[in-house]
Amino acid sequence: MSVSPSSDTVVESLASRIRTVQEATRGISERYPRSYILECIKDDRFPEEMWLAMGEQGLLGLSVPEACGGSGGGVVEIVALGEALALGGVPTLFLVVTGLSRVPIIRHGTDRQIARFVTPTCDGSVKLCFAITEPNAGTNSFNMSTFARREGEEWVLNGQKVFISGARDADYMLVIARTQKASEVKHRTEGMSLFVVDMKSPGIQLHLLNVQVETAERQYQVFFDDVRLPAEALIGAAGKGAKLMFEGLNSERLLAASAALGLGDYVLKKAVAYAQVRQPFGKPIGSYQALQHRLALAKAELEAARLMTYDAAARFDAGEDAGAQANMAKLLASRAAAAAMDAAIQTHGGYAFDRDYDLITLWPMIRLMEIAPINNEMLLNYIGEHVLGLPKSY
Ligand SMILES: Cc1cc2nc3c(=O)[nH]c(=O)nc-3n(C[C@H](O)[C@H](O)[C@H](O)COP(=O)(O)OP(=O)(O)OC[C@H]3O[C@@H](n4cnc5c(N)ncnc54)[C@H](O)[C@@H]3O)c2cc1C
Repeated sequence: MSVSPSSDTVVESLASRIRTVQEATRGISERYPRSYILECIKDDRFPEEMWLAMGEQGLLGLSVPEACGGSGGGVVEIVALGEALALGGVPTLFLVVTGLSRVPIIRHGTDRQIARFVTPTCDGSVKLCFAITEPNAGTNSFNMSTFARREGEEWVLNGQKVFISGARDADYMLVIARTQKASEVKHRTEGMSLFVVDMKSPGIQLHLLNVQVETAERQYQVFFDDVRLPAEALIGAAGKGAKLMFEGLNSERLLAASAALGLGDYVLKKAVAYAQVRQPFGKPIGSYQALQHRLALAKAELEAARLMTYDAAARFDAGEDAGAQANMAKLLASRAAAAAMDAAIQTHGGYAFDRDYDLITLWPMIRLMEIAPINNEMLLNYIGEHVLGLPKSY
């Protein structure tokens, strides 16, 4: 008879995995606090020192198997890292795009591709960004028009992507492109392929977008004009890119959830500290239930979303298909963080809008989590259709 671990042991082992990463990450956010990131944003430069320190400490290698040069661990560990960085006030979009981009390469790449495109991301010497969004297709990614045509052993890439975070600072970009026209395939999810594109390739042009989300990674429109890709750029089988990409998108959802959770708690802490000392009527405003309950509710909602996020992460690591849980976790975490932000703004009154209080600066990033990497309506569509069995709504 096999004896399964008691639920107490499972809960404690999950808690201990999270704690280990969070303790290691605290060292990073103490060395590179929020003021450091704000300086990088002001100077428009990538937080290279922090990134390399994370690499040195083995944090960037989390979720990459040791055999591929990583630190091991799974989705739980990288989610814990994302949450801890955000909680320390130093969230990074690069962690989300790196985490997502590595998944299909690790699972479907050759040893040479892993050695070239994944292993050096673990010490921070190589950075990956990710490009799926197109101006006309938007959420409807299958409608993309970026196309790679085969020429002998090579591929020739043409088209454009938009909102690509960190394109300037990345060494390689994971790009999904059509390799067969939508009209030539049975189902529109077919005929797409995944490529790792060297950002130094001739024919790539970047156009900086005027996006006001205060992170060190800026967003670019990326133009591909006859970019020649070697055979080795193709990850997995040609035409199967959509399936490969979706394997990475579930962990991206959880990484977005983790950033939302950490940032939600970060702004809540700021609000609580302010509510303890601000006394326009001679008593701390935190003693007024209208504010106190709002902050308390935000905390409860963040904790509930946190449970769901780590549950989904642990399910992935146990080999389950936890797509539904991951979608629900991102939905709930982003909403909880937005509610925490709103409560924090209300608590700060007019000072919420003074940039020197560094609260309003976090609003765009928190609000973004309800829209990117995937908008919450699409998550509700998924739950409606795949969990509840309702007809497709779009
Ligand atoms: C700061 C930032 C960073 C980003 N980083 C990256 C990146 O690194 N790589 C990358 O590829 N992309 C990136 N994106 C793009 C992001 O993923 C998209 O903006 C997002 O997926 C939404 O696409 P869209 O903006 O074209 O919205 P649209 O598709 O135009 O949708 C607009 C709105 O319509 C609603 N909607 C759309 N479709 C449906 C539907 N079927 N059912 C119900 N409602 C619907 C939703 O409310 C949605 O918010 C980034 C965006 C931003 C702003």
